[in-house]
Amino acid sequence: MTIDALRAHRVSDAWSVFDAVQAGPDGLNAFLSTDRTAVGNATGSLAGVPVAVKDNLATLHMPTTCGSKILDGYISPFEATAVRKLREAGAAIIGKTNMDEFAMGSSNENSAYGPVRNPVDRTRVPGGSSGGSAAAVASGVVRIALGSETGGSVRQPAAFCGIVGIKPTYGRVSRYGLVAYASSLDNVGVFGATVHEAALGLQVIAGHDRFDSTSANTLVPSLVPDLGTSDRPLTGLVVGKPREYFPASLDPRVAERCERALASLVALGAEVRDVSLPSTELAIPVYYIIAPAEASSNLARYDGVRYGHRAPAADLGTLYEQTRSQGFGAEVTRRILLGTYVLSAGYYDAYYKRAQAVRSLITQEFTQVFASGVHLLFTPTAPTTAFRLGEVSDPYEMYLSDIFTVTANLAGIPAMSLPVGRIDGLPVGGQFMAAPFDEATMLRAAAALE
Ligand code: GLN
Repeated sequence: MTIDALRAHRVSDAWSVFDAVQAGPDGLNAFLSTDRTAVGNATGSLAGVPVAVKDNLATLHMPTTCGSKILDGYISPFEATAVRKLREAGAAIIGKTNMDEFAMGSSNENSAYGPVRNPVDRTRVPGGSSGGSAAAVASGVVRIALGSETGGSVRQPAAFCGIVGIKPTYGRVSRYGLVAYASSLDNVGVFGATVHEAALGLQVIAGHDRFDSTSANTLVPSLVPDLGTSDRPLTGLVVGKPREYFPASLDPRVAERCERALASLVALGAEVRDVSLPSTELAIPVYYIIAPAEASSNLARYDGVRYGHRAPAADLGTLYEQTRSQGFGAEVTRRILLGTYVLSAGYYDAYYKRAQAVRSLITQEFTQVFASGVHLLFTPTAPTTAFRLGEVSDPYEMYLSDIFTVTANLAGIPAMSLPVGRIDGLPVGGQFMAAPFDEATMLRAAAALE
């Protein structure tokens, strides 16, 4: 049934919704560029289906700006593998979506091209950093979109916009052509209007790619859930409820929506078990050391010589300095400074090395919990619903939006968000996490819950 809605939504439908929602003072500003000539192919599992792609995935016929002035107008000479696979499956790539600059952010307010508005309530943020893709799906322009995840950038906007978002296992989807933020954490992720549609999108883009040395040479099973006819399709499934993700400080309304989802899982045949992942509280500090460290190195390539913006300058030192200070926004600059600091000779052991040790601990705790007979974990996706544009101005407070999502990136495990209810009309997301390469189990449980 859900896949029928996907087939029925044609490219012409995408443009009529797009024309109604994108522009104007109250417009969503979800897209940075479009390709009105895209039609897709007549055959393939996404034949003629309009799809949107985050602007940090390389495309041949549209710019790839990463939401940054430093790449303004930049057109890649090659195409990301995930984008190529969508095209080969028949999809029409209709546009590139707005995002936090270089995928750094949790609200989409860090884009150099203006914030994105949440289609559910246009005074609010869509979440970030893949907020443009989330808004494109939630508004009905497209039913499938690609995003990227370094620490929750698909799941958190999916939660804020009331749609489905998947972060696959690290290595499940090729990163070739995904502009690097923090390479050991980055993933291509998928948004869908429903679980089935998101699963179909993932099915198309998953698989080994010789152009990405970290892409896994692991068979991709059938990911689109088939629940059969049983009333209790989740019989035998053990779902862990990690206590650290339901702290006493959690908004009781968020907790209640998640408890209701857990009760539904039990009604569907699953067993819910209390579990503990004690190092969870260290995830935010660890993430905000490792991600900026890797970013400071990855973003060194924007020097005004090879890509995009170049400041006119008499000597090379001034050229670098001016290009970078003109091209990068405040959050990107903050991360580069933080990253170079934690990697510097006197501080490397104290920060970066310790963060890597704690990262291993976090990973081990997941490994142990999945080895103990727990198939999935269920938690809230984010501690709050979508906040108002401009409401969160303290960077540290913004970083706390990622408290429940960064762990999956640190451990490399698959995770997803799906809608589990509303608070005052605003969507609440519930999160599943699974053992490495077990996206199929997570998607089955999510489909049953949906
Ligand atoms: N909000 C997190 C950050 O700013 C996550 C971003 C992401 O997943 N790309 O780093």
